Amino acid sequence: MSDCIFCKIVGGEIPARKIYEDELICAFLDISPINFGHVLVIPKEHHQSASTVPEATAGRMFAVASRIGILLKRREEYDGYNLHLADGTVAGQVVMHVHMHVVPRGAEDGFRWNWRQLAYPEGMADEIAASLRAKLAEKIG
Ligand code: AMP
Ligand code: ZN
Repeated sequence: MSDCIFCKIVGGEIPARKIYEDELICAFLDISPINFGHVLVIPKEHHQSASTVPEATAGRMFAVASRIGILLKRREEYDGYNLHLADGTVAGQVVMHVHMHVVPRGAEDGFRWNWRQLAYPEGMADEIAASLRAKLAEKIG
């Protein structure tokens, strides 16, 4: 049996405040929210990384997460929301079952993402774009 905490939530083995589920995905309240109403949207099938989630499931996750975001704005009087997905420990992933955070945001909520904005050295942006473009054309095109 899986010892994945989110698989256990899907299977009803541990409690969670589920707000939505269908055949592909499940959404529930984050137990330690950034703001009240913070939701996690997960595939029912266990995947560690977003990259292996089948496209139909990934699409459903995105569609439902953004609808939940809109609902939080309309019904809970937030001003906006962030969708956030941490893929890998260095990216901040703690629970190794992929999940999309829906974080409701208020104008005065006092929460700041620790975001930075670097400047590319001469030539580097063109190099990176060309390399990614070529590899993506092989993989996806
Ligand atoms: P991440 O850092 O992106 O892996 O986020 C993991 C999230 O899961 C955190 O925001 C936790 O608060 C949340 N979390 C962990 N355990 C539970 C649980 N049993 N029920 C609901 N949310 C959980
Ligand atoms: Zn799992």
